[in-house]
Amino acid sequence: MAGRPDRRSCGLLTSVARQRREAGSGTGRLRAPAHTRSGLPPGATAILALQRAAGNRAVSALLGAGPDAPLHVQRLVGLAKESRIRAAARAEVRWRATATPLERANDHAAPALAALRDAGIPVPTVVAGDPASGYAAEFQPGRWQVVVNLARFQAAPVNEAAARRLVGDLYHEARHADQYYLAARYLAHKRPRTRDEEYVYNRVEQSARLRAWRDPPPEAGLFTLSGSRRKYAAAAARAAGYVADFARVPGIRAGMAAPAGLVAEIGRAEQALPAEFAGEPAREVSAVAAAAFEPRRVHAGNLFWTAWNDYVASSVETDAYGLGGRLGGTPAPDAAQRRRMWETEDARIDVALNRLRVAIRDRPLTRPPLPATPPPPLPAEEEEQPPPLPASLPPPVPEDDDQPPPMPTAPPPRLSAVLRPAVAPTTREPASRGPGGAREVEEREAAVVPVSLQRHAVPEEIESAVDE
Ligand SMILES: [Zn+2]
Repeated sequence: MAGRPDRRSCGLLTSVARQRREAGSGTGRLRAPAHTRSGLPPGATAILALQRAAGNRAVSALLGAGPDAPLHVQRLVGLAKESRIRAAARAEVRWRATATPLERANDHAAPALAALRDAGIPVPTVVAGDPASGYAAEFQPGRWQVVVNLARFQAAPVNEAAARRLVGDLYHEARHADQYYLAARYLAHKRPRTRDEEYVYNRVEQSARLRAWRDPPPEAGLFTLSGSRRKYAAAAARAAGYVADFARVPGIRAGMAAPAGLVAEIGRAEQALPAEFAGEPAREVSAVAAAAFEPRRVHAGNLFWTAWNDYVASSVETDAYGLGGRLGGTPAPDAAQRRRMWETEDARIDVALNRLRVAIRDRPLTRPPLPATPPPPLPAEEEEQPPPLPASLPPPVPEDDDQPPPMPTAPPPRLSAVLRPAVAPTTREPASRGPGGAREVEEREAAVVPVSLQRHAVPEEIESAVDE
């Protein structure tokens, strides 16, 4: 039952006593109270205030709750908590033959979403969509949703392991929600924020940000023991690592997309070829331009390789793959898999480049080639030749001024050409490129758009784990 914060009980102890009464279990353990719309149980603000002053342990002792109290004063571990992992692993997920694919996706996400709810983390909605990159699922912080590829929920998994993989992969995605929320809790009250911090914080959906703002992480208090202090420090460091990694996501995505981008560029170069070349020199120009793609192929390979290394090594992914893997989810692609992925990408570049080269080679010429020029005659045999005629004769000089000037041979210029302004048409000024400029934000957002790379290159099992 959702309750409003109790206006009458201003004091902490009143609030605690009230919660004890509401708990009513008789065991002395605090029952998890209903969460308010803000995500905090009634009276939790006062408890959190005391927690920050006195320390987590002191508050836990006051509440008569053990370290695993269902009232999560601390809540820094999220989905990494052992009891939540075990509960998710125990959860029975049936394949409902009569359900829609989206309903089945929700069934398989349920253990992860329950863990989020239990941890007091805003629960993302599961929506059908095309993650556009062939991902099985993808957490989108800006909409606080997990987009699932329904193709994975069309046919029943072939075996138990395949079924668990879906559950594990969705736990992986839910862990990203957990990571973003923890990062947002640390960033909400931080001033000033770095550019990376600002970027990551603003990527979080608004209502999740508001909850994070109302839910600051614990700080060590006067009575906080050293063990707890270390735990808080570790959580803060973890959150800082998440922020740094989330800020690098656009660059990683761009690197993963580099080969596909090059393939597209080569394709555009082929499209832009003329239907026929005016002569061999023009063909040669195109051939030289095509050859310039070759070193860029190496560069794209380096970007791709580095991006995947960064992706796999990032704290957000090692963490999410680790938790998802414990539930049977897809493991992170190892070096051999990444090499195969790169070979697939490189082969696509190769195909595109060959198509371009063949197109350049096979394009006809506008005029038939001239017959081979005969070798110049030897000087000994040279005869006196009459001077060559000029290619075009000069116009005849009028013999007297009475004659009208000759008519121009060229047609008069078209009206539109006459009326064309002398100045070049103005181009749009680029938007501000300054720090935080709208254009830069757009570019960063654009950079995170998943690309066709994974759609083609990543084996399905890897795709399922690829996300941010
Ligand atoms: Zn991930």
